[in-house]
Amino acid sequence: MLNFSFFLPTKIIHGPDVVIKNAPIFNEFGTRVFIVTGKNSAKASGALAHVEAALAQAKIKYQIYDQVENNPSLANVEQGALAARKFKPDLIVGIGGGSPLDAAKAIAILATNRINPEQLFDLKSIRQPIPIIAIPTTGGTGSEVTPYSVLTLPDKQTKQGFSHPEIFPKLALLDPQYMESLDETITKDTAVDALSHLIEAYLSRRKSGASDLLAESGLKLWGRSIVDLRANVFSSGLRNGLLVASTLGGMAIAHTGTTIVHALGYPLTYFHDIPHGRANGLVLAEYLKYNYKHAKSRVEKIFKLLNLRDINDFDLLLKVLLPTELKLSEEQINSYGVAASRTKNASHTLGEVSAEIAIEMLKNSLRQ
Ligand code: NAP
Ligand code: ZN
Repeated sequence: MLNFSFFLPTKIIHGPDVVIKNAPIFNEFGTRVFIVTGKNSAKASGALAHVEAALAQAKIKYQIYDQVENNPSLANVEQGALAARKFKPDLIVGIGGGSPLDAAKAIAILATNRINPEQLFDLKSIRQPIPIIAIPTTGGTGSEVTPYSVLTLPDKQTKQGFSHPEIFPKLALLDPQYMESLDETITKDTAVDALSHLIEAYLSRRKSGASDLLAESGLKLWGRSIVDLRANVFSSGLRNGLLVASTLGGMAIAHTGTTIVHALGYPLTYFHDIPHGRANGLVLAEYLKYNYKHAKSRVEKIFKLLNLRDINDFDLLLKVLLPTELKLSEEQINSYGVAASRTKNASHTLGEVSAEIAIEMLKNSLRQ
């Protein structure tokens, strides 16, 4: 039965030159902008130049914080927040992949609230964060439309997300041309993150009629990219399809959260430096096999939407897109499986994911 619950306070504008065309929109937020980016991607993608031109046109003062690391740590966002507090912006513009966008969200809260970054994971009542405009440069995380920020916690030796409705970006500006500078590997890794979000939302305990609609359209769109991704043909059509599919995936997980796939991916990123999307992709086929027991018809529908024959076809596709040499010891597999089974993400998975099931999923995923 189609039930429905939907909250997405992000205005989305998509199209070529969307930043330049919408320059006056920056004036709606005030006169001072703090730009949050990684070291290269904002420049390499051309997005920063467009934002600077739009801000100059709108006569807005700005400062750039370009020190966001991949998988930003608590210390990294704290450093950004210190700079933001001094600058006193009316608006934060995050430009980049999920790392700068998530850092922008954490900084938006830390800039107006005198709390330690550890307290982001236990937010009570907070002062209004600084509003955020998100400009993605990867077609992957969908962070431009989620209330989540995922950070690295060295003390806990893992990554963890926090959520707050006030960190939904007010505006997401989507321009596929910013993805042209992505290399082959990052394109595939981030595309698989989008795929993972769409699949996890579709097989989540928290799924609804609304998230199903988003996941189904996103999967269909993502499926159209398979031929080009396999053949390493990175056309503007492919870039656009992946960007939109990833935003649909973000809209879906904004309602469902992620599952055991993300929980198993985090230690692979933390301990083995495997990029986020790739880490999810490594366990995705086993996750689908697990879900045969709980939602067979949905798993089969996923193949149909992607225009793939069956689980073997799916498994082979991911092995072609994400070749890996990763080998884990039995001790590592056990420890990551136990930790993943205890996360909130795991509790969104269909069925009950015990430590044994999580361990088995990871072990089978890395069998060559
Ligand atoms: P990323 O960590 O933001 O970026 C990966 C690499 O790609 C970086 O070296 C980055 O360069 C580069 N890059 C990004 N865009 C580029 C472009 N257009 N041209 C050239 N290089 C570019 O990767 P991501 O996969 O998008 O984000 C991963 C993070 O998002 C993880 O921390 C993950 O946990 C999080 N995430 C968040 C959500 C959410 O809802 N909030 C959902 C899923 C994942 P720079 O270092 O110069 O930027
Ligand atoms: Zn993800």
